[in-house]
Amino acid sequence: MIIVMKKGTPELEIKKISEEMGKRGLQVNEIRGLNYTILGLIGDTVSVDPRDISVNVYVEKVMRVEEPYKRANRIFHPENSVIDVAGIKVGGEKIAVIAGPCSIETNEQMDEVAREVKKSGASMLRGGAFKPRTSPYSFQGLKEEGLDMLVEAGKNNRLPVVTEIMSIDRIPLFEEKVDLIQVGARNMQNFELLKAIGRGTTKPILLKRGLSATIEEWIMSAEYIIASGNPNVILCERGIRTFEKYTRNTLDLSAVLAAKKLTHLPVIVDPSHAAGKWWMVEDLAKAAIAVGADGLMIEVHNDPENAWCDGAQSLKPKRFNNLMEELKKISQIVGRSMD
Ligand code: PEP
Ligand code: MN
Repeated sequence: MIIVMKKGTPELEIKKISEEMGKRGLQVNEIRGLNYTILGLIGDTVSVDPRDISVNVYVEKVMRVEEPYKRANRIFHPENSVIDVAGIKVGGEKIAVIAGPCSIETNEQMDEVAREVKKSGASMLRGGAFKPRTSPYSFQGLKEEGLDMLVEAGKNNRLPVVTEIMSIDRIPLFEEKVDLIQVGARNMQNFELLKAIGRGTTKPILLKRGLSATIEEWIMSAEYIIASGNPNVILCERGIRTFEKYTRNTLDLSAVLAAKKLTHLPVIVDPSHAAGKWWMVEDLAKAAIAVGADGLMIEVHNDPENAWCDGAQSLKPKRFNNLMEELKKISQIVGRSMD
């Protein structure tokens, strides 16, 4: 971190700041210019907030050199992290594909979708039991009953299961039944939830990017989970809110490249919630693998026209099967594999 002092700052003020930084265990290197004095802080500055230093009236500006996150930072962990989800490796050479409906509806629906996506080569089964809906009058999910349907379909089709957690009090239930615990876009900055899943479980966490979160904010949320004790975090880009209305969200594929450069965590892409339109999902999924995503999360429904949630962005099993065939070719071109 670099502190630029204003022209004519009294010596005493420079000494005061230097001593304060020294107390925090930082070494201070002073550079005297013609007009300005620059203080270079050497050491671990993650817990130093530049805004706290800027409070001093003699401080011109404060600049971070290092990122404010450490445990998620690739600088301190140069190799890719490979996260194990009930035997499925995410972040290695193989592409992981999570597929399933938006919401869990019935045993028959879950079993049919699970059977189909398994046949096509999906590696995990998704389905929402606790749904974060914009309207309180929309279907809120089948809750515990739905979770059991997901677990059953996963077991019958040998697929690990992924579902979203919304509250701290359900951590023990998820710890017992869920293989990959999803934190949805709307809860990405629910810091109490992030800390609790960091402390309360070592099950892997799928952290979706918030609707209007910057890449740094998204990584800071991963940092919360890791710093609280759970290093098993997978990032998921799912589209961000922009001025564009044609699509549900704007898929930010450059975020995949950025997150993979800045962190060592696996990054997957959810083209379904990004586009909101089923006919865009296949091409966006291919693009995601082409830019280097470690996997995908795709909504698949056996009867999208009658789905209880997000039918418009769900693929039918046949289309999903075709997509998986296409993805095999693309993954090979980019040096990855699907099976
Ligand atoms: C979901 O995956 O079911 C979901 C609600 O996604 P998001 O949190 O990205 O909106
Ligand atoms: Mn959905």
